Amino acid sequence: MDNDTKNNNNSIINEDASSERSRIMVIDDEESFLKVLQGVLEVNGYWVTTCTNAHDAIDELRKDVYDLVITDLKMPGMSGVDFVQKAKKISPNSYLVVMTGFPSVETAVKCMKLGATDYLVKPFDMEYFQIIVERTLYKRVLEKRAAERDYYEHISRVDGLTGLYNHRFFHKLLDSEISRADRYKHNFSLLMIDIDDFKKINDRFGHQAGDKVLKEIASLFKSLVRKIDRLVRYGGEEFAIILSETAKEHGRIFGNRIVESVASFIFQGLPEGEKITISAGIAGYPDDAHTQEDLIRKADVALYKAKSAGKNILCVYKED
Ligand code: GH3
Ligand code: MG
Ligand code: MG
Repeated sequence: MDNDTKNNNNSIINEDASSERSRIMVIDDEESFLKVLQGVLEVNGYWVTTCTNAHDAIDELRKDVYDLVITDLKMPGMSGVDFVQKAKKISPNSYLVVMTGFPSVETAVKCMKLGATDYLVKPFDMEYFQIIVERTLYKRVLEKRAAERDYYEHISRVDGLTGLYNHRFFHKLLDSEISRADRYKHNFSLLMIDIDDFKKINDRFGHQAGDKVLKEIASLFKSLVRKIDRLVRYGGEEFAIILSETAKEHGRIFGNRIVESVASFIFQGLPEGEKITISAGIAGYPDDAHTQEDLIRKADVALYKAKSAGKNILCVYKED
């Protein structure tokens, strides 16, 4: 998801999907007709802005966010098609309904290809008008609910500091990796990582500098893993990486590379010359373990061995 989409989603979820008054802009150069439409919409509880020409409407769209824009296609100064294109560019999340006389239905269809959601042929019945408005705005409510659901799903899976998967989601990931491995007779490896002497980093440079190191390490890991691998913040300064379809021997090569990469990495959040190291342990499925718990335990045993052996290394789990 790019940043723009993220921001748009945030603005969607910050509004209460059901209780917020919908904002509608109506544009028509016929003032008396404009007043009629405004009246009907306001009676229905909508927040309405009117414009009598396309240029004012474009200015208004730059200033404010509208859920729905209803526009006549025949206006002096700008063609309906040009208006629809401009409006969609300025306010891509607003719905657009166009109004037109029967002879220019073709133009209305063209506008729908450019992103308008519906069209009304003048003269139209006011009840029909209200149905179109309600139906269009209902799409907005559904959209907001979907964005809300996506957002909460995202934050329930992801660690806020590093953007990696969190501990809770790790177990689901591991479950599905095990199912896949069983089904397709694949193997995979689990790498458990713990930053060495991290307490000292916090003690010497402060908790914020420690947080920055965690973020930088997470980015470094992201740059080193393949797309199919799963990166998890397992605990405070502990990480887990599920290496999909990777036998332990190949996982060992990757694990060594990750240990070396951290040791040689220059951390922006630390004084010059300060180094960080990690210790790691690796175990393989199904060679070392047949359950999730056992696999985690065995990768942990290997990690513990790496710590006992003096840190800054990877140890591979071996049955004693
Ligand atoms: P070892 O090499 O044996 O792993 O030593 P260590 O100091 O890394 O391990 P220890 O378990 O003694 O300390 C872990 C430290 O990690 C202590 C804790 O304050 C710090 N920590 C955990 N979560 C966070 C966090 O989110 N931010 C920061 N800045 N520090 C954290
Ligand atoms: Mg630890
Ligand atoms: Mg540690």
